[in-house]
This record gives sequence, C-alpha cells and structure tokens, in this order.
Amino acid sequence: VTPRGVVLDLDGTIYRGNDPLPGAREAVGRLRERDVQLLFLSNNPTETPSAYAERLAEMGIEADPGEIASAGSITTEYLVREHPEDPILLIGAPGLRSQFEAAGLSLIDEWREAAVLVASYDREFDYERLTEALWTLDTGATFVGTDPDLTVPHPSGRPVPGSGAIIGAIARVAGRDPGVICGKPSAEARTVVDRRFGASLEECLIVGDRLDTDIALGARCGMETALVLTGVTERAALAGAELTPDHVLESISDLDDVLGGPSTTD
Ligand SMILES: [Mg+2]
Repeated sequence: VTPRGVVLDLDGTIYRGNDPLPGAREAVGRLRERDVQLLFLSNNPTETPSAYAERLAEMGIEADPGEIASAGSITTEYLVREHPEDPILLIGAPGLRSQFEAAGLSLIDEWREAAVLVASYDREFDYERLTEALWTLDTGATFVGTDPDLTVPHPSGRPVPGSGAIIGAIARVAGRDPGVICGKPSAEARTVVDRRFGASLEECLIVGDRLDTDIALGARCGMETALVLTGVTERAALAGAELTPDHVLESISDLDDVLGGPSTTD
C-alpha cells in the first residue's frame, strides 16, 4: 500500500555532505509520482528550511521549504512558543543563532542574565563556554538541547562530534539533563510530523540512516520504518540493536520495494 506520507531524513539518506546519494533524486521523483506527502526532516541544527530547499534544488530535488524541518527550525519553534520573551544564552553555531534572531528571540551574551541555556553543535565550544554553561545552569536556568546526535558525518568519512557531545558535556558537569532535546526522536519532532500528516501516522513511513533518531521517531509515532545503509548504520550493528526497523534497504533507491504496487498515476 502506498503510504499517505513519507518522512525522509537528509544526511546519509538523500545526500552525504554536498553530494546526492546515487538514485536519491529519482527515488524522490517516484514518490512525487505516487502523490504522497513528503517531509524532509534533518537533525542538523545549523540551517533554515529555505537553505535546505536551495541545497536540495542544487541536487535536482525540488522541495518547498514548507516540506522541510530541521532540529534548528523545531528548536526555534519550541522557544518561540515556550520562551518568547526569556533571555536565552546560546552555545551553538552561527547558523542557529541567525534562526533565533530571525524569529525575534531574546539572545544575550551575559550568562548571569540567562533564563534559558540552549546547547547545540558549536565549533567554538571550549573550556570557557563550558564554565559559563555550568554557572548558567547552577542559577536554575532552563536547559534545552537542539538534537541528540553524538556524532555527525564529515567529508573525511570519519565522524566528528555533534550537538549531543556538547549537550552531554554540559549535562555531565552540571549534573542534570536538558528538559527537552528538540530534534528527532523527541515529542517536539513528533509535533512537526503530526502537523504535516495529520492523525494517520500509522499510514506513514519514515526513512533514515540512524536507529536512535530516525527509526526511534518512527517507533514513537507508530509509523512504518525503513533504515538505509548509506549513512552511519552498518548492517552488523542491527543484530544487537534495541530498535528493529521494519525494512532495511541498501539505499533509498530500493524504496519502491517496500512501497508495494505501482504508483497511483501509472
Ligand atoms: Mg541521517
């Protein structure tokens, strides 16, 4: 049965770095032919949905910014809803800072004034920032993380530390975990999926390369799940894993195998 909606992870599923994965463009094109609703959902906090739309367009994949969400956009929405006026200290990348600024959030530099600490991927993260984060949380500030990814892919082929590494360092030294981590597989990410696909999530499919984020979100939402082996997860890792995807695909090119039946427009 053709699903009503498909959630597609980006890095490791559609592209790697700046290069589309072989067959990804065609696979998205076939989903379009089937007339399923799409949601491109990334745990990268650093870019806006519009920037992702541009990047996808460069790869020959047309997507409306309204079909795209990221840990950055989900965190921004969360803060706009829950902390619209609160002074926020951000440990994060310039690309996340600009999303907060565009949304009118109250970013501050002085840790003593912070009511909220947001922790995320930050290449400038150092001992001084860790100290400020500790002191901020010691004042009782709310602790928010953008996404749980401990590592992220790097063009070298080796993983590099992601938001989860920085959130974890702060959580460890401060002795408490964030109240919310906004990206996949959080309840906040589910809110975005709910809004896009409505109440019929059991008729939807999620495709991604990570068990602990993509497949975990699918399990949380009651969606059918498909793991692709073009990203961080090796087939050997599946044997001992807590989460079992419904389908394991060599790549997104094989998606038709799990969709069943010809496209509705054939
Ligand atoms: Mg991925």
